[in-house]
Amino acid sequence: MTYDYDVIIIGSGPAGFSCAMQSTKFNKKVLIVEASDESIGGSWISKGTIPSKALRAAAKSIQSFQSQFGDPKGRKPYDRFRMEDIMAYKMPILENKNRKIKNDIIKNEIDTARGWGKIIDEHTVEVTDQMGEKKTWSTRFIFLSTGSSPVTPDKLSIDHTKVLDYTTILDLTHIPHRLAIIGNGIIAIEYATIFSALGTRVTILSEDSETLPFLDQEIRDALFNTFKKNGIQLLHNVVVKKISYNDLRNCDEVTFREGEDGRLQVIETEQILYAAGKKPNTEGIGLENLAIKTDDQGRLIVNNVFQTDVPSVYAGGDLIGPTNLASASFVQGRLAAVHMFGNKAAAAAPDSPMPFAIYSIPEIASIGLTEEQAGERGIDATVGRAYYENMTRADLDHETDGLLKLVFRTDNLQLLGIHIYGENAGDLIHLGQSVMHLNGTIEYFIDQVLNYPTYSEAYKVAAFNGLNRVNRTGIKYRNQPD
Ligand SMILES: Cc1cc2nc3c(=O)[nH]c(=O)nc-3n(C[C@H](O)[C@H](O)[C@H](O)COP(=O)(O)OP(=O)(O)OC[C@H]3O[C@@H](n4cnc5c(N)ncnc54)[C@H](O)[C@@H]3O)c2cc1C
Repeated sequence: MTYDYDVIIIGSGPAGFSCAMQSTKFNKKVLIVEASDESIGGSWISKGTIPSKALRAAAKSIQSFQSQFGDPKGRKPYDRFRMEDIMAYKMPILENKNRKIKNDIIKNEIDTARGWGKIIDEHTVEVTDQMGEKKTWSTRFIFLSTGSSPVTPDKLSIDHTKVLDYTTILDLTHIPHRLAIIGNGIIAIEYATIFSALGTRVTILSEDSETLPFLDQEIRDALFNTFKKNGIQLLHNVVVKKISYNDLRNCDEVTFREGEDGRLQVIETEQILYAAGKKPNTEGIGLENLAIKTDDQGRLIVNNVFQTDVPSVYAGGDLIGPTNLASASFVQGRLAAVHMFGNKAAAAAPDSPMPFAIYSIPEIASIGLTEEQAGERGIDATVGRAYYENMTRADLDHETDGLLKLVFRTDNLQLLGIHIYGENAGDLIHLGQSVMHLNGTIEYFIDQVLNYPTYSEAYKVAAFNGLNRVNRTGIKYRNQPD
């Protein structure tokens, strides 16, 4: 049987793009279908990772400038900088990224079709363009990577002017003086610290009883201390009752209770960000035509090589969750292509611990067991800590808020987890990840020369700190020389 394409990819985000790139390495004929007329590359470039990180980078520069050099007139960052300044920083980054993606697509001779992609049967995809014209193509494999969209609230309305979601907050034309954020996930926390760095007074209204409960407790405490220091208010168990406009005071108001029985409270705000999660984009893509299964969260169910129940249909990225990260999506798309066209044995998703980063200001990054998890599993573990205030690099950068924490086995010093709060955490985590992946011990950081002054030096300090703790308690580790 001959097909028009070897693989048709619906959605051009990190999962779809990496599936396309890897497929071309096997000399396969590839078509990417993308619904957006404006950009190619997925919400990763247009609404997610890149624009939020560009906004963060601008806010961080402004915050560093403000805190290092101050302001003789005592002005807030939003009095000195405008959203236009931030746009001027952000837009070239997005344009550049988009241009590079387009160039890669052209260079690798990947075909593109602009329009809405839908599965018709296990080897046919239909694309409807902006004018309503339909075309169908046959294909050996289909890769679904339609991503996710913001969850919309049942009772509140998002008008995208006063009440924004995580896509429309990027369209703000001014820096608000006050921002109320409904939600307490990663996106909510990132935007809270970004706007706080710009001088905005931020209140986080969380329906949950805990924030980022998966983090190591000390890292969470460090984050909450920064919140306190910077005046970010975090309220838990919040039940939002209504959002209304107060004509007299010329501001929006959020009315809520802390707990169902709590007293009614009102906060005044200039903007509201509703950031209570994402939902996979499964509607209208023809899943019903093949009875492709989804889980209770609406995410596509795939096996460890990203294949759905229909062997010719694969899926990756936010559509399958639950990592919901560009970093993981890139790997999933590539591995799916390897399974379609390459060595099937090499295509299984790695089962080693996965790192993640939260790009708050400062950053958070983590991999492996937290101190609490090691305890719950009955592992005899010790921790080693390095505080940024003791690091020369952090001193030089005025970045003294931070902690790097190692969790390792007491008996043989094997590294089990790394948890970092502070500048460069997202990058820094990968040194420890490599050591962990190779079943290394904290002795690596003690024995090896690490550049100085660097943030990586924190690994050495934390390793010495941990080793001292082991020795102080009189427990000698097995590998210790006589
Ligand atoms: C504010 C924010 C910050 C983030 N920060 C980070 C971060 O720092 N690090 C990180 O790793 N991840 C981050 N993420 C997550 C990351 O953006 C997503 O995990 C990633 O974009 C998911 O990739 P994807 O390939 O699944 O699809 P997406 O990037 O969502 O792209 C899906 C594409 O499919 C298209 N599409 C949808 N339906 C159809 C259809 N029927 N036909 C044709 N095309 C269709 C869409 O137009 C879109 O272009 C962030 C997300 C947000 C919202």
